[in-house]
Amino acid sequence: MLRRTGSDDGADLRTGDLLAGGLLAIVGEGSLLTGKALAERPRSYWDPEPLNARALVRPRSTEELGEVMRLCHRLRQPVVTHGGLTGCVQGTVVTDDEVVISLERMTAIEEIDSVGRTATVQAGAVLQNVQEAVARQNLYFPLDLGARGSCTIGGNIATNAGGINVIRYGMMRELVLGLEVVLADGTVVSSMNRMLKNNSGYDLKQMFIGSEGTLGIITRAVLRLREATVSRNTAMLALNSFASVVGLLQFMGRALGGGLSAYEVMWGDYFRAVTEPGWHRAPMDRDYPFYVIAEATGADEETDAAQFISCLERAAGDGLVADAVIPKSAGERAALWGIREDFEAVVQLKPTFLYDVSLPIKDMDEYINDVTAGLRRRWPEGQCHVIGHIGDGNLHLFVSPGTSGERLHAEADEEVYGPLSRFGGSVSAEHGIGLEKKRWLPTSRSPTEIALMQLLKRTLDPHNLLNRRMIFDA
Ligand SMILES: Cc1cc2nc3c(=O)[nH]c(=O)nc-3n(C[C@H](O)[C@H](O)[C@H](O)COP(=O)(O)OP(=O)(O)OC[C@H]3O[C@@H](n4cnc5c(N)ncnc54)[C@H](O)[C@@H]3O)c2cc1C
Repeated sequence: MLRRTGSDDGADLRTGDLLAGGLLAIVGEGSLLTGKALAERPRSYWDPEPLNARALVRPRSTEELGEVMRLCHRLRQPVVTHGGLTGCVQGTVVTDDEVVISLERMTAIEEIDSVGRTATVQAGAVLQNVQEAVARQNLYFPLDLGARGSCTIGGNIATNAGGINVIRYGMMRELVLGLEVVLADGTVVSSMNRMLKNNSGYDLKQMFIGSEGTLGIITRAVLRLREATVSRNTAMLALNSFASVVGLLQFMGRALGGGLSAYEVMWGDYFRAVTEPGWHRAPMDRDYPFYVIAEATGADEETDAAQFISCLERAAGDGLVADAVIPKSAGERAALWGIREDFEAVVQLKPTFLYDVSLPIKDMDEYINDVTAGLRRRWPEGQCHVIGHIGDGNLHLFVSPGTSGERLHAEADEEVYGPLSRFGGSVSAEHGIGLEKKRWLPTSRSPTEIALMQLLKRTLDPHNLLNRRMIFDA
C-alpha cells in the first residue's frame, strides 16, 4: 500500500513493505538484516548495547548501493553508514526509523600498483588488511592507529583519520588519490584518480574526505603508497618537563633528517595508570612527569640505528632526556607501543569521557594545567589522563569524574572546551564532530564556515538522508 502526502515527486512515500520489499529485491535475503539479527550486533566498539534500526543493508557492490540509495531517496528514507564502528564521536548512532548501510561486504583489495605506488580498495577493507597486503609487495601505507584491526578505509576517509604517523605523512586527506562515492540520490561519482598531480578543475574528493558520511557514501578509493622502509628504530623516553618534550621533538626532527615518523607523548598520570599491577609492565621508573615513544624509519638498518642512538645520546647530554629504553626485539617494541595504545586501564573507570583537541604545541602545558585545575575543583576525586600526537598539535584527554550524575558529560565538556578558545584550539583534531560534539562546532568554526557547510549539504543531499543528525543541523 502506498501513501502519498502532498508531494508531486514522490516525497514521503512510505510503507515498511515498500522499503523492505525494495531492499530485498536489490540486495537479496542474506544482505538485509532486521529485528533479532540486528539486535545480535553491538552498536559500536564503545557501546555493547544491541543495535536497533529499521534495517541493515550490506551491499556487495557500488552498483547495488547506488540502487539502494535510489530507493531510499525515492522513499525519503534516512540512512546511517557503518564502517568498522570504532569512531569516537557517536557518528554511527542510529535511530529505529533509520536504515544502516554497512560496507562489510565490500572489503576487496582490488589492485596494488607497485610502480605507480597505489592501492585500489573497496571502502569496507579493514585498515590492517590493507597495510599487510601492500607490505607483502614491499610497499607501505602510512596511516596507522590503534583501531587498525577493526576500522575501515571508508571510515578512515569519512573521518579524515590521523593516527601515529601524521607527523611525517599527513592525515588521511594526504593519502587518498581517488574516490568513488554514492550520493544521496544514488548517483555514483567515480573520481578514481591515480595520479599525484591532477589540477583539472576542483579536487572533488576533498569535499567527501572528513565529511563524516553526510555528503556521500564512499565505496572505493585509490590510496597513495610509499616504498617500504627497511629500518625501524624505537625508544621509550622519560622526560622531566614539558619544555623538554617540545625541545626533544625539535631536536629529533633536525637530527634525524626527516626520518622521525612518530612522537607520542604520555603524561605521567596516564603512564602510571596503564602500568599499574595487572596491566602493562613498566619498562622504566614510573615517577616521571612525561614519557615519549619516538620512532624513526629509514632505508639502512645499520646506519639508521647508529644515527638514532647517537641522536638520543646527544639529547641526553643536553639534558632533554632523563631515561631511555630501546627495545631489542619486535616483541619488546610491541610491548612499548601497547602502553601507549591500550588505554583499557583508563576507560574501565566508568564513566570516562574521551576528548580529542588540537592547539598550538607551545600552549599545551598551560592548557592542560588549566583544564586539570578546573576538573579538580569540580570533582576532587576525579582523574584526567592525557596522551597526545603532540607533533600534530593533538591531545587526547580521558576525563573520569569519579562520581555519577546526569550532567557529567556536559560538565566535563565545559571544563575541557572552555579554556580551548583562548588558545585558538579546535574541539576536534582527528575524530570529527559526529553527534557528540555538534553543540561545540560553533566554537571552532565561524558562522560563515558553518553556513557554507550547510549549503553544501543541502545541495548534495536536499532531503537530508545521509547521516542526517551528524555535525550540524542541515
Ligand atoms: C583504540 C582506538 C584508537 C583510535 N585511534 C585513533 C587515532 O589515532 N586517530 C584517529 O583519527 N582516530 C582514531 N580512532 C577513531 C577511529 O578508529 C577512526 O575515526 C576511524 O577512522 C573510524 O573508522 P571506522 O571504519 O571504524 O568508521 P565508523 O566508526 O564505522 O564510522 C565513522 C564515521 O564515518 C562514517 N563512515 C564510515 N564508513 C563510511 C563510508 N564508507 N562512507 C561514508 N561514511 C562512512 C560513519 O557514518 C561515521 O560517521 C581510534 C579508535 C579506537 C577504538
